[in-house]
Amino acid sequence: MEVKWDQDVCSHAGVCVNSLPNVFKVEDGKFVIDSSAASEAEILETVAKCPSGALTVQN
Ligand code: SF4
Repeated sequence: MEVKWDQDVCSHAGVCVNSLPNVFKVEDGKFVIDSSAASEAEILETVAKCPSGALTVQN
């Protein structure tokens, strides 16, 4: 499963980072997504919570 992030859509609400910090994190000033660091169910739940719709999932 691959999670995509649209920088132009993201409102930087931080919901994803707070919800799953091992998956959604900032490294060296860049936003990175490690989709192997949580279960698919957890990631889907967090993607659904994103208020801006910046996160999408591709299988
Ligand atoms: S939850 Fe959505 S809007 Fe908030 S920081 Fe993450 S991608 Fe951006």
